[in-house]
Amino acid sequence: MTGMNPAAITDAENRPDTLPDEAHDTPEGRQPHKLLIGGREVSGGAPLLNLINPATGRVFAQCHNADAADIDTAVRSARAAFDSGVWSELPIHQRARILNRFADLLESNMDQLYRLETLNNGRPITETKAQITRLPEWYRYNAALLLADRDAVVPMTGQYHSYTSRFPLGVVATLSSFNHPLMIASKSLAPALAAGNSVVLKPSEQTPLTALVVGQLALDAGIPAGVLNVVPGLGPVAGAALVEHELVDKVVFTGGTEPGRSIAMATAKRFAKSTVELGGKTPVLVFDDMPVDVSARGAAFGGFIGAGQTCIAGTRILVQSTVYERFVEALVAQTEQIRIGDPSEKETQLGPVISDRARDRILGYVKIGVDEGARLATGGHAVDVPGFDGYFVAPTVLADVNNQMRVAREEIFGPVLVVIPFDTEEDAIAIANDSPYGLGSSIWTRDVARAHRVASKLEHGIVWVNDHHRLDPSSPWGGVRDSGHGREGGWESFHDFTHVRSVTVRIAQDDVDWYGGVALERLN
Ligand code: NAD
Repeated sequence: MTGMNPAAITDAENRPDTLPDEAHDTPEGRQPHKLLIGGREVSGGAPLLNLINPATGRVFAQCHNADAADIDTAVRSARAAFDSGVWSELPIHQRARILNRFADLLESNMDQLYRLETLNNGRPITETKAQITRLPEWYRYNAALLLADRDAVVPMTGQYHSYTSRFPLGVVATLSSFNHPLMIASKSLAPALAAGNSVVLKPSEQTPLTALVVGQLALDAGIPAGVLNVVPGLGPVAGAALVEHELVDKVVFTGGTEPGRSIAMATAKRFAKSTVELGGKTPVLVFDDMPVDVSARGAAFGGFIGAGQTCIAGTRILVQSTVYERFVEALVAQTEQIRIGDPSEKETQLGPVISDRARDRILGYVKIGVDEGARLATGGHAVDVPGFDGYFVAPTVLADVNNQMRVAREEIFGPVLVVIPFDTEEDAIAIANDSPYGLGSSIWTRDVARAHRVASKLEHGIVWVNDHHRLDPSSPWGGVRDSGHGREGGWESFHDFTHVRSVTVRIAQDDVDWYGGVALERLN
């Protein structure tokens, strides 16, 4: 690797908690991580970011912080690289080869990436590893799409040969969330780069480090300087400046619904494209033909992965009344077996949530649910993990909930599942669709006809049957309503990083002579 010093990261990992909270200097020689603009590491204009290990609650590293001027520099650097043609006009076979090399480099740096990601966002290392080891696939898949893509010859009336061809947009801005920093970034980085765009990536201010490593690996792979710029910074400062920048042609935003709404409006004002991947309140439909131990295991997996901090977490569990009590019992038993602890231990199944604020918000929602009449079946409290002063929350089940309660309508973004009974298939569909959100759902049944019938009625962008959380570069991902618009994954996403142009060639033997009588002939 060039640029970022890997030793500095290892150092931070081994001695994670020695920096004072307000330290802007660098005791023990550890330098704050810098922004990556135009292929160079540069300082940011805003005060340094203190990065907190959520398992310990303590600062483990610092990072430079972009202000609006840094964002302007990054966007102009991306535009200059685009205009130079070093990437945007590179023959597609060469671009694909470099993306494949990038995928190989990600693979060979995987250990460093998943350890650093876990240190920064507290997700158990086993989960992080399972997710991140798939990152290279996104680059390889999109490199393959680039080579496999075909334009259309369109059947235009008259003596014309008319066809389509695609061209890249220009500068793409990606703003990513804290929960799956690298996966979220890669979902748009891979198609954006494959299509020939330049990118400015603003990772979450809470979890910027792995994005900086990836920026360096991109350079090492041969992606030219300025094509991928990485600018950690605060949402309302760096994020807002990026979204508003007149030279940004597309914004891909993954985050909360309210910032997503303002970002979609800001981009629409200047007719830039946007994909906004926002919140969710994913229903899990449990039918009585499925053994309750199987559906309870599925619901626990759907809801508690990432300590419930995933947009697609299955947090609204709709259960057929014939098996309701038995299901709640099985779910509570499953939940109480989950091992909470140090996220860097491979036995740990549930780590901390991202911050003390998040922990307090989550526990506040449990109280709201109980006040609304829900039954606290298990959990509902913070957890002490010896030797760790971080933000652990017990996995929680609120039973006897109805779909109008706040805990059933609002995204809690923590390990809290609400269980709602239903009687018939039609009731289940109606409750599942009755939500401001529409990201995904899962259906648990042994009845294959029912599975397809119910799937065809759900107004959600993603539906799983007898599974949850499955994600693949080939499969479009995205929501409806307050879960956002646009798709990531598949041809749909790849094409959305291009404009289509129509090229029409006159093949008639005579020349155009509109004023020489052709127009009149048409009238007669
Ligand atoms: P967040 O909205 O706080 O931040 C996301 C990113 O946007 C960060 O980079 C942040 O700095 C930036 N940002 C925040 N406010 C901004 C503004 N006004 N202008 C420009 N940029 C701004 O979200 P988070 O807490 O990091 O992530 C949690 C949210 O993300 C949840 O709501 C979750 O459901 C959602 N999410 C959605 C998906 C999906 O695919 N639909 C995936 C992961 C997370």
